[in-house]
Amino acid sequence: MSEFDLIRRHFTRATPNTLLGVGDDAALLQVSEGNVLAVSSDMLVCGTHFFADADPYLLGHKTLAVNLSDMAAMGANPRWATLALSLPTQDEVWLEAFSAGFFSLAQQHGVELIGGDTTRGPLNLCVTILGEVPQKLALRRDGAQVGDEVWVSGTLGDAALGLAHLQGKIDLPEDTRIHCLSALHQPAPRVALGLALRDVATSAIDISDGLLSDLGHILERSQVGAEIDFSMLPVAEVLRKNLTHPTPPLSGREHPTPPLTRGGWEGLEVSFIQHCLLSGGDDYELCFTAPAIHHAEILGIGEQLNLPLTRIGKIIAGQGCVVQDATGNPLNIESTGYDHFR
Ligand code: ADP
Ligand code: MG
Repeated sequence: MSEFDLIRRHFTRATPNTLLGVGDDAALLQVSEGNVLAVSSDMLVCGTHFFADADPYLLGHKTLAVNLSDMAAMGANPRWATLALSLPTQDEVWLEAFSAGFFSLAQQHGVELIGGDTTRGPLNLCVTILGEVPQKLALRRDGAQVGDEVWVSGTLGDAALGLAHLQGKIDLPEDTRIHCLSALHQPAPRVALGLALRDVATSAIDISDGLLSDLGHILERSQVGAEIDFSMLPVAEVLRKNLTHPTPPLSGREHPTPPLTRGGWEGLEVSFIQHCLLSGGDDYELCFTAPAIHHAEILGIGEQLNLPLTRIGKIIAGQGCVVQDATGNPLNIESTGYDHFR
């Protein structure tokens, strides 16, 4: 099968919302009135972002998901994507599954694949995503204000625990393992949340390299500091439930994380759990800031989207991020987020 047959068979689908899609030298797009384009690229490299034997369907999902996550963090409505592929072999079974995973998520979000590039080489997957947002409503990193509340969506650390399990560093019990591996392989990009936050949030970022690292980008760009309450960090139910020292069931919307000074989870080191929550990569949740007057509205958005939204701290004057324990003492944090060149 030629390169062009491959593209036709696996990567050409109808693009009714595009002036011209796959097949010419370039695609032609019409941006909706009142909107600007939000453009972002994210690349997944075999050996760096995934293992060579990764399930191709899930890889197709994740390749697009990490890009959708950037649209979510910008408050943009994702519309189009291009896909640049470098493939070691022409493996029909692999391609079939990869494109099925990719298009399944694309369809859920109304995203059209409008072009790309296909070459032979080490397995490498690069998507460029294009979305739309009214310029004034884009959720940038530089808008956090002193006094704003700091929020995160979903739960933190699950993917990092899943990765540690795959790497043989820890051994998770079955229910926890299923949850954490699904978080790692099939992140759910928070696109609907990003859209809902357009009128509410002052800044936003998606958590790909760990909370502290990514919140750090907001702080730097906004020239402010933050106080984070470690006990407020949202932890998946399946992890709470397996605490060595179980605590009463959750009540209310804001549930403190049980103290981690004794035992920890599954007998894991406390410092390792801290690391997963604060610096674990691949969460693809949103971290955002918003004025306190929007607190109730934000909780309402979470309920509407059936997605927990948790206030984890506040923006203060100064710079950098202080993480405090339940009694207000600063935690000694050793690890920071993932950096490819450190
Ligand atoms: P060119 O030689 O002009 O770069 P190509 O032969 O690389 O064009 O690609 C032919 C068409 O197929 C183009 O419209 C391109 O955007 C599209 N295309 C190539 N690879 C992919 C891919 N992996 N997914 C979607 N479209 C692709
Ligand atoms: Mg080309």
